[in-house]
Amino acid sequence: MTNYFNHLGGGTLCPGCAGTRPMVYALTVNAQKVLRLLQGYDYNAVSRLKIDDELSRELDLCMNGYLKHLLEKNIKSAAWLDTLRDQRMTLKQ
Ligand SMILES: [Zn+2]
Repeated sequence: MTNYFNHLGGGTLCPGCAGTRPMVYALTVNAQKVLRLLQGYDYNAVSRLKIDDELSRELDLCMNGYLKHLLEKNIKSAAWLDTLRDQRMTLKQ
């Protein structure tokens, strides 16, 4: 069974869920194994793995996209909090 990855969906998706979402891409079983180890902070196990160029590219694409998604969300949240703070300051005056 091929699973999929989707930043907006929060990570790995089964084929059933992947079919209903945009911007989804297939994830190899090996990539899923590495991501699972990283998720569990098992860096020793990850360092023992033999990661070839193809798997490296896949993980790079996956993690870069996910981090970018998370950072943009955080930046938007920070901007929203600034807006809220500014409004409260205006109301107090
Ligand atoms: Zn599902």
